[in-house]
Amino acid sequence: MAIDVKGVLSPLSAIGTLFEHPKTITYPAVKKDIPLGYRGFHINNLETCIGCASCEEVCMNDAIDMVHPDIEYNIKNTSGCVPRIDYGRCCWCSLCTDVCPPDSLKLDNICTHADSNPDNFLYMPKNHKSIGEEVS
Ligand code: SF4
Ligand code: SF4
Repeated sequence: MAIDVKGVLSPLSAIGTLFEHPKTITYPAVKKDIPLGYRGFHINNLETCIGCASCEEVCMNDAIDMVHPDIEYNIKNTSGCVPRIDYGRCCWCSLCTDVCPPDSLKLDNICTHADSNPDNFLYMPKNHKSIGEEVS
């Protein structure tokens, strides 16, 4: 009976990978640079948001609700409302940022968020960079 030498030896070639540089990174200790223009979570400059609800109207996924949190509004925000994003619905199309008249709503490049509480995916963007801090 002939022995398939190649078949026996080829799995051993995997040993060579032990001496190669790892192809993965030790996330979250090491993080990759996020490319410029990457669509992450929303930020909203509350000093310029006018509460017009254009962002809510344009969102085809119904991912935006206008809410009335107990915060200080700028004088031009006559409705007293600001958008809250449901990240269970958002597809990061960025239409809401395109239609924002004062350009207050933007997408940051922060794009990772893990939480076991579904309420923490309802996010009221402010002009800072930490999702999970501002949940109404
Ligand atoms: S974020 Fe922009 S579009 Fe949305 S309510 Fe504020 S000003 Fe209007
Ligand atoms: S990025 Fe698109 S889906 Fe997400 S909230 Fe804005 S309009 Fe809606």
